[in-house]
Amino acid sequence: MAYAQTPSPEVAPHLAAAKEAAGSDLGAYLSLCQSADPNFKPTPPDLAALMKMPAPPPGKAFDNLYFVGSKWVSSWAITTSGGIILIDAMDNDDEAKRIVEGGLKTLGLDPAEIKTIIITHGHGDHYGGANYFVQKYGSRVVASDVDWSLMEGTLEFDSPLWGRPPKRDVSVKDGAKVTLGDTTIDILVTPGHTMGTISPLFDVWQGSQKHRALLWGGTAFNFGHNLERLQAYIDSTARTLKIAKQQGVDVFISNHDHYDGAVEKLAAKAAGGPNPFVLGEATVQRALTVMNECAQATLASWKS
Ligand SMILES: [Zn+2]
Repeated sequence: MAYAQTPSPEVAPHLAAAKEAAGSDLGAYLSLCQSADPNFKPTPPDLAALMKMPAPPPGKAFDNLYFVGSKWVSSWAITTSGGIILIDAMDNDDEAKRIVEGGLKTLGLDPAEIKTIIITHGHGDHYGGANYFVQKYGSRVVASDVDWSLMEGTLEFDSPLWGRPPKRDVSVKDGAKVTLGDTTIDILVTPGHTMGTISPLFDVWQGSQKHRALLWGGTAFNFGHNLERLQAYIDSTARTLKIAKQQGVDVFISNHDHYDGAVEKLAAKAAGGPNPFVLGEATVQRALTVMNECAQATLASWKS
């Protein structure tokens, strides 16, 4: 990664630790360290262009976990004995219908079974299509208390391309459990990207093999020079490193393909061989370490 100037002695060790943890396979997370460069000028994503990219085929990551997203933003469907839990609802009604609903049908699943939608955080690319399912199927919408307030207040980076936020429905706090049928999702609140970001933890199955999955609910440092949020991000990743270790988390996915490479992994899985979504515990620890060290590097650069 190129820096316009030599990083300060406070920043350099965190950049080095992030780089080492990233290895050759986690470079997408290492891109977070760009924020530690005082000359880095983030460019806001060109939403219209991202949304125009052709949607990849939907796919099955595990027996009970399906990808129904675009190249830009992901929705994940968890199948249970009581219906479907959808994690995130894409940008708007059109994508909800075309990509999520259409994708589920392609996979042989019934979108009318979407009973619960978990919104990872209060940005429009994750809640924008939720109302489509609420109106059509009566799906219940779960978000953190903090991010319901965000969705009710002044929206961050609102766009006319995004659907309106759903009405406040089920509000959860850290440690809550969301159960549907035989499946329980553990709600981990990981403040930082937003102050109420949810990172769901749940079991995924491949035949008789059970794996523990964590979906990181908000990755980018796109909150400007906000010390509270950056510190929260550092604390959340540090805490999650311990939780992931305790629970043996070996699957780490995202709600943006840019980070987890879900689209490529689905194609590789379809071609046969071992399931590329099973990263192993050590790789999950490395990914969280990259995020934590990049956040620490950024904090150090703000202070130096
Ligand atoms: Zn976001």
